[in-house]
Amino acid sequence: MKSAHTENARVGAHRAPDTDSERELELEPTSSPALRVLRPRRAKPADVVRPTRAEINLAHLRHNLRVLEKAAGEAAVWPVIKADAYGHGAPAVARTLERAGAKGFCVALVEEALELRQAGIEVPILVMSGYYAAAHAELIEGDLIPVVYDAGQLHDIARAARHAKLDAPFRVDVKVDTGMGRLGVPLEDVADFARRLADLEEIQVRGLMTHLACADSEDPASTEAQLERFDEASRAFRREGVAWEIRHAANSAALLRGRGVFDMARPGIGIFGVAPGDRGFSAPLSSQLKPVMRVCSDIIAIRDVPPGTPIGYGETWRANRTSRIATIAMGYADGLSRSLSNRGRVVVRGKLAPIVGAVSMDMAMIDVSGIDGVSVHDEVVVLGSCQGAEGSAEVTAHDVAEAADTIAWDVLTAVSRRVPRFFREP
Ligand SMILES: *Cc1c(COP(=O)(O)O)cnc(C)c1O
Repeated sequence: MKSAHTENARVGAHRAPDTDSERELELEPTSSPALRVLRPRRAKPADVVRPTRAEINLAHLRHNLRVLEKAAGEAAVWPVIKADAYGHGAPAVARTLERAGAKGFCVALVEEALELRQAGIEVPILVMSGYYAAAHAELIEGDLIPVVYDAGQLHDIARAARHAKLDAPFRVDVKVDTGMGRLGVPLEDVADFARRLADLEEIQVRGLMTHLACADSEDPASTEAQLERFDEASRAFRREGVAWEIRHAANSAALLRGRGVFDMARPGIGIFGVAPGDRGFSAPLSSQLKPVMRVCSDIIAIRDVPPGTPIGYGETWRANRTSRIATIAMGYADGLSRSLSNRGRVVVRGKLAPIVGAVSMDMAMIDVSGIDGVSVHDEVVVLGSCQGAEGSAEVTAHDVAEAADTIAWDVLTAVSRRVPRFFREP
């Protein structure tokens, strides 16, 4: 496989200094006009007053890359780091993974790709969501690989490539819709699309891709049907004179199950140490993944209340015995979903404590009646594991997702901009 990076001339990137230290976090640009993605502050301890934080374990990140590379065998692994690396902080995550040998990255938006270039990332970047508006020059200047699936995009990209006077054709990946019903050239339009492509000498097809709707399912039937259609489309492109170089289809679930891995895989959630699907997912290597994000806060107030005392907005919870209620410094504006009201659990001193009452914007209440020795300033783990004086316990992204009636992807990406990320080399 050739690297797009060696073929498409790129301007404006320079390598940023070392990633792992907090020194670097200070150096990240925050106000460049090209940086259009809102992202959380990369905090230094001295910046932060409130104890609420997300700890990002960079050693686990590298470990997960190795696990997924093992699953991929000969295929390249291009981690998907859209949505600010699933809430973990894209620049620092990308630098860590690039240094650990990642061959390329996938993002959803042009803005996200430019943020990575600005952070000094040099490996190829695939822009998957296909929305380029007037940013074609930026695609070319940033040496980005756009995903295309309609004729209008081809026309715009070809024009921008002509304008840039590139000395080699500009490389794109073509997405085929094999059953996801979201983006991609529909099967019946593949031949027509391929003929248009073959006519455009400014554009060369690097990859053919598709996306799988049910890769996490134990039942392979849907995935196999999609992969058959993908094979059909791949042959149709060749027949029409479009010589694609590589193919890719696998997200984390497909990669871990060894389905549709082809030449390259696009794992997202697995890179962050969370098994895809729900807690029932199992594949040979999925148990080796280690969670990268740990979210915690502190107890900021404690009260002992008699039976019958209501807690929180709407009085949705009432003590049915004498209870010890602790207030934590994290609420729905931080990403602690309001759906966890009266349903979620957190860890204090190594023991699980239920969330009681409605989660409010900046705070939530927990019932610590069953836990000895709880005091103000005790750490509260909202996501992750905790060893404490009273034992050890863990709240996984799947636990939170189940309680909030959502999926682990939503739990990770919900951690808001207000929560500072601390990058750890344990
Ligand atoms: C988000 C995304 C992925 C990564 O999916 P995970 O399930 O998080 O591994 C891969 N491919 C495409 C097209 C995506 O949008």
